Amino acid sequence: MKNGVVIVGAGHAGVQAAASLREEGFDGPVVLLGDEKELPYHKPPLSKTFIKDAKAKPQPLRGEVFYSGNAIDFRPGTNVERIDLLARRLELAGGGGLSFDRLILATGSRPRTLPLAGDLDGIFSLRSIADARAIRAMSGDCQDAVILGGGFIGLEIAATLRAGGCNVTVIEAADRLLGRAIAPVIAAHVHKRLESIGVRVLTATTVTRLESQNGHVSAAFISTGERLPARMVIVGIGVVPNVELAEMAGLAIANGIRVDRQMRTSVPEILAIGDAASYPHWFTGMDVRLESVQNATDHAKLAARTILGHQDAYSAVPWFWSDIGDMKLQMVGLTGTSNRHIVSGEPDDNRFSVYHFSGPKLIGIESVNRPADHMIGRKMLGLGFTPTDEMIAGGAPALKAAIATQAAETAQPAAE
Ligand code: FAD
Repeated sequence: MKNGVVIVGAGHAGVQAAASLREEGFDGPVVLLGDEKELPYHKPPLSKTFIKDAKAKPQPLRGEVFYSGNAIDFRPGTNVERIDLLARRLELAGGGGLSFDRLILATGSRPRTLPLAGDLDGIFSLRSIADARAIRAMSGDCQDAVILGGGFIGLEIAATLRAGGCNVTVIEAADRLLGRAIAPVIAAHVHKRLESIGVRVLTATTVTRLESQNGHVSAAFISTGERLPARMVIVGIGVVPNVELAEMAGLAIANGIRVDRQMRTSVPEILAIGDAASYPHWFTGMDVRLESVQNATDHAKLAARTILGHQDAYSAVPWFWSDIGDMKLQMVGLTGTSNRHIVSGEPDDNRFSVYHFSGPKLIGIESVNRPADHMIGRKMLGLGFTPTDEMIAGGAPALKAAIATQAAETAQPAAE
């Protein structure tokens, strides 16, 4: 295909890349290959609204007319098996191939599996609409569910199933929920709030064995020796990036397909974006692989610009959200190096934010039901602005005023 771009993976990143190529003025052929048969859809609702509403439909990322109207050759149900680097050609499952001039790998990630689950019925993980349909079909008559993993997706599902009347137990191997990156005060708040709606939360606990009846899971045994009845077991223990295509082709891999700040892999005419890509983040200088809609979307926009010959480096402010029961969690920045934090607001009101600092510098804000703090945080981090403790104590009005002053000073050259 002369001067064409082929995109592998029709999820958040792949679809945005196709859209951005056209928005940026690319007029060559664009082919979008996805192994799922559906029109590409939003993933976040799957663990939030979709599994609790029997009538909910997948929410398309773009309507069907977007693909035809923008001359995007979208081919659903197409699994790419191999990249022939020398021939600049893809080999497709079931035979056939497709040559490319530029290639964007947007292959996403897949749930980590639990070896002891075997192939029992009633064991689920959640990545695709097919997974969500299977969970929804069984959750209608769910009495007991065990969720393995106290990360965002596991906890979203726990709250959703509990709202539907299911007895839910969350099992987390670490001594707290939500991993190390979230402030302990938020992890403790989420823990307490889930318990208040009747979710049982067991930290520092593992599953040692599953029991089954007629090939269907019936209980989970945990490290304390207790037997937990379970009609459903949902495994939410993280994801692994889909790097196999890239790896087989000899591209550099480091916890994801390694890319530079223009999204180019170790073979420059092949780019990688979204959950599958790892890169040195401008924000910390450290290597990261992020799993968020924002990351996928901003990577895709930049990849399109790189293909059109622009040299901009990745500079988006990272952010993420999660809805767990009545808690909207919003995170901005990267807080792994936080060595001081300030809490603004009251956890007891279910509305508060945590401002993280590394030395003197603001590096991130995590909010529970305080969307204004999140939006202001995105502005502050984008400007590289660190508020004083007094400004944070003054809340949104004080922070907005401080940002306006900073923006005016940046725009106005200092008087001689
Ligand atoms: P994906 O969207 O996974 O798309 C990759 C696509 O490539 C998939 O369709 C895959 O099947 C396909 N593919 C892979 N290999 C091949 C191949 N060889 N040939 C053809 N096709 C292939 N993020 C947030 O920011 N906030 C949230 O609240 C949130 N909630 C989430 C809830 C759920 C249930 C899930 C699963 C994810 C959630 N995320 C959330 C994460 C977010 O959805 C991902 O970060 C985002 O989808 C990544 O986009 P991507 O395009 O890189 O990968």
